[in-house]
Amino acid sequence: MMNWQWIFFEALFLCLLISGCQRTLDPVPLTVTMTATIQDVKSSVTPELVPPGNSGSDEIELSEIVSPEPVPDIVEPDVVTVTPEATGYPDARITIIYDNTAYDKRLTPVWGFAALVEYGDFVMLFDTGGDATTLLRNMELLGIDPARIQAVVLSHIHGDHIGGMVGLLETGVQPTVYVLPSFNASFKQQIAAYTSIIEVIPGQVIVDGLVSTGELHSGIIPEQALVVETPEGQIVITGCAHPGIVEIIQAAKDLSGSPIHLVLGGFHLMDKSTLQIQEILATFRALEVKQVMPTHCTGEVAIKMFAEEYGMDYIQGGAGRVIEVGQMVTQIDE
Ligand SMILES: [Zn+2]
Ligand SMILES: [Zn+2]
Repeated sequence: MMNWQWIFFEALFLCLLISGCQRTLDPVPLTVTMTATIQDVKSSVTPELVPPGNSGSDEIELSEIVSPEPVPDIVEPDVVTVTPEATGYPDARITIIYDNTAYDKRLTPVWGFAALVEYGDFVMLFDTGGDATTLLRNMELLGIDPARIQAVVLSHIHGDHIGGMVGLLETGVQPTVYVLPSFNASFKQQIAAYTSIIEVIPGQVIVDGLVSTGELHSGIIPEQALVVETPEGQIVITGCAHPGIVEIIQAAKDLSGSPIHLVLGGFHLMDKSTLQIQEILATFRALEVKQVMPTHCTGEVAIKMFAEEYGMDYIQGGAGRVIEVGQMVTQIDE
């Protein structure tokens, strides 16, 4: 204040010395008022309303203080939402219909394997279990209408995987059946009497995003596995994994660059030592397999070891188990 008053009196004195300057002195009392106003407003203005950079300065222009512009609410998202649609693949829903064990206790457990794959609007069956009676009864209990099945992929020729095929076709449904070229001619003719049949080639596309590895020969029994591309990565579905579970995953990996999200089905490790299973587990980790659902012919010891190794990423199998992949929304903190 002392400086302002000093300047004021100095200016007044200077003006008085110069003739005709009285009219220019008219604003001077206003200047004093302005200074007072600045102080009053400053003391009553909340910090939020003081424009940034001007707080604490006596050189704030009056117009900014008297009519402070309301600071707009700045809405900044604190998370980034990654939508699964980014990959272009639909979500996948897999229901185990036929298995050695029953996850849903209403269902009948019988040695064998069958899984329903719902993929966008497409519905297909991977393997048919050992008999049509159990297959159809379990489907009925799960509320699955066989008429919805547009395709069947048969992993290999063993009875616990193809046993329900003809009985299913006898209900009048006509899915396209994908078989191995090596299947015996009489079985292929049996199916062809009801519906169309396709002998798979490596990378056989069933619909966009649903692909067969084709016939793998690295074991005694040739077999195909199904690869389901999802927004989270691949789901690899195996029947008995006779060519070797690691070989199957490698074949699936070679089909696309997608990460392996989940491997499920029979891993066929009943006759492996714990050391061999440990090596397989290490390979699963090296191949960056995120989740596992070893079931059917995997073997109790191996299932236990997979459960211990994978913890929360181990999924218990059994008839009636439903797995949905791709519906989770990933949230990343900024
Ligand atoms: Zn088998
Ligand atoms: Zn089997």
